[in-house]
Amino acid sequence: MVQGDGVSGRRGAAREIVVAGGGLPGLALALALRQALGEAVRVTVCDPAFARTDAGRDLRAYAVAAAARRMLARLGVWDAVAGSAQPITEMVITDSRLADPVRPTFLTFAGEVAEGEPFAHMVEGDGLLAALRDAAEAAGVVLEGRPVTAAVPETGAMSVRLPDGRRIRADLVVAADGARSRLREAAGIGWVGWSYPQAGIVATVAHERDHEGRAIEHFLPSGPFAVLPLPPGGPLGHRSSIVWTERQDEVAALLGGGPDEALVEVERRFGLSLGRIALESPLKAYPLAFGIARRFGAKRLLLLGDAAHVIHPIAGQGLNLGLRSAAALAEALTDTMRLGLDPGGPEALETYERSRRFDTLAMGAATDGLNRLFSTDALPVRLARDLGLGLVDRLPGLKRMFIREAAGLRGRQPRLMRGEAL
Ligand SMILES: Cc1cc2nc3c(=O)[nH]c(=O)nc-3n(C[C@H](O)[C@H](O)[C@H](O)COP(=O)(O)OP(=O)(O)OC[C@H]3O[C@@H](n4cnc5c(N)ncnc54)[C@H](O)[C@@H]3O)c2cc1C
Repeated sequence: MVQGDGVSGRRGAAREIVVAGGGLPGLALALALRQALGEAVRVTVCDPAFARTDAGRDLRAYAVAAAARRMLARLGVWDAVAGSAQPITEMVITDSRLADPVRPTFLTFAGEVAEGEPFAHMVEGDGLLAALRDAAEAAGVVLEGRPVTAAVPETGAMSVRLPDGRRIRADLVVAADGARSRLREAAGIGWVGWSYPQAGIVATVAHERDHEGRAIEHFLPSGPFAVLPLPPGGPLGHRSSIVWTERQDEVAALLGGGPDEALVEVERRFGLSLGRIALESPLKAYPLAFGIARRFGAKRLLLLGDAAHVIHPIAGQGLNLGLRSAAALAEALTDTMRLGLDPGGPEALETYERSRRFDTLAMGAATDGLNRLFSTDALPVRLARDLGLGLVDRLPGLKRMFIREAAGLRGRQPRLMRGEAL
């Protein structure tokens, strides 16, 4: 509640939850809580990005895994993006040097997890964000276009401060304010992690030939170069999103030239298999890091998405992990509040921490290991990994396991990711 209006989040009255950060995990949590609990919970999402009108702010397109798609369908937002989502029908992995004339395929996955259900879809970030934002607003979530400047503990509540001097008294604050979370830092929650000496360069590439839903990951010595299929369109009829991992010290030179130089560099890595190419967007570089919070929360403050855990994009799983955390947190909070307990108390935090700690650590370690294994040119390592890829390619059972992992369907799913109501 905004201070002074006389309503408080005590027993019997609506509980008040403030989410700081309206990225995809923050919005998904807010929407899930309102859908499950209706007027029993008031949810405000604060993010300065809501006040910005610059379209195309997120150039990224995401590989949304089947489990995350089931969650979005349950929340009623999948239909809004389904028409512009591209199913990934196959995943191809190559391992070569930049100058090699051919890129032999070492591993392929053809991927449905159920009849007619691909293991992942490519979805453009802006469209998904807009769909979640509209659904959240329609469900009664209050969207506040300002950042949270501080969350200060008070007796029995948190006082959330906004830059214009307003305060919101909340039972619980969820910090979904990204990898460099100010709220996490202010709460003194430790962070274990490191930056990679690499950046992730993203862009949309137009090309002449149809990708037929195929995603390609070229493992090059500086890191993976992923070509991810997007729906048809663009100046050449077909489009893909690239995620290009490059050594940090090379990035300034690669991005500093004009569009022609950038295109030449992309062409060297993209290859010729999809015909002539053109850049449909500028190249944008993101710093890459691994990190995990020592705790996923403290009294009346829980961490969500990249504020809780950041992983290398090598397997396209960071957002999927964030949505999984949003599903688990929505479940923990809903169960807690249905029992009449305080959402800012220890029960929700313990349940959330227990359900997410191992999964996030395991995914973080796997992506870190993959990046180390594949971002090297050492001959013995290359031979060993190519042998490993070749072996996996001949073992259908193992391949099925990897597909289910990539689809987010291994292990215990939170209810929303099983497509069930909270
Ligand atoms: C190159 C690259 C490619 C990727 N590709 C994939 C992929 O294919 N699939 C996948 O699953 N993941 C992918 N990821 C990971 C994914 O982008 C992140 O995990 C995801 O965006 C995290 O969302 P978030 O909302 O937690 O954080 P962010 O996206 O960083 O959003 C944080 C939000 O908080 C807001 N904010 C910041 N401070 C405050 C404040 N004080 N008060 C209020 N609001 C605040 C910001 O404005 C922002 O909107 C990729 C990452 C990179 C770098």
